[in-house]
Amino acid sequence: MICIKCKIDLPEEKFQFRKDRNKYSTICKECTHKYHKSWAQTHPEKVAEYSRKWRKDNPEKKKECWKYWYENSPKAKAWKKRNQMTESGKLIRARIRHKRRAISKKVLNTLTLEEWLQILVKQNNRCAECGVEFSEKTQPQKDHKIPLTEGGAFTKNNIQALCKECNVRKDATPELRRKNKEKYK
Ligand SMILES: [Zn+2]
Ligand SMILES: [Zn+2]
Repeated sequence: MICIKCKIDLPEEKFQFRKDRNKYSTICKECTHKYHKSWAQTHPEKVAEYSRKWRKDNPEKKKECWKYWYENSPKAKAWKKRNQMTESGKLIRARIRHKRRAISKKVLNTLTLEEWLQILVKQNNRCAECGVEFSEKTQPQKDHKIPLTEGGAFTKNNIQALCKECNVRKDATPELRRKNKEKYK
C-alpha cells in the first residue's frame, strides 16, 4: 500500500483500519500522527476546548488519568516529595489518614458545631497544647485526644482544639500521643 501523503510503499499494518469505511486509511499511521500533531500545534484553542469537553464528559476517566499520572510520572514523584516536606503537605496527609481511618472504622461521629464552639469557649479560644490564641490567621483544628486508631471517637469528649503547629507535631510523635492518652483517661 502506498501512503498518499509520504508516497512510501508500506505494509498494511502501518495503516489504520477504518471500521466506518471498512477499509484501510489511505494515509499511513505516521503521517496521520504527524498531521494530528501539527494540527494540534496550530489550533491550541481547539485542543483546549476538546480536552475541556472530554474532561466534562468523562469525569471518571479524568480521575483515572490523574491517578495514573500521580502514580507513574517521575514529575509527579518529585512534586509529591516536595509537597510532603511542607507543613501543609504533612497536614493534608494527616487529614487523609484520619479520614480513611474514620471511614474504615465507622467511628462514632456526633460532634456538632455547637459542641465544637463549646470546646473553643472552654479552652478560652486557645490551643490546648501551647496556649496560642486562635485568630483569623491561627485557625483551630479538631484533634482527637485519643486517636481514632486507638479507639477514640469523633465526639465532644474526645475532641480538643489545637493550633496547626501543635496538631502537626502531635501527629508526628507517638510519645506525645501516648502522653495525651494517659492525660485524658
Ligand atoms: Zn505516510
Ligand atoms: Zn498550639
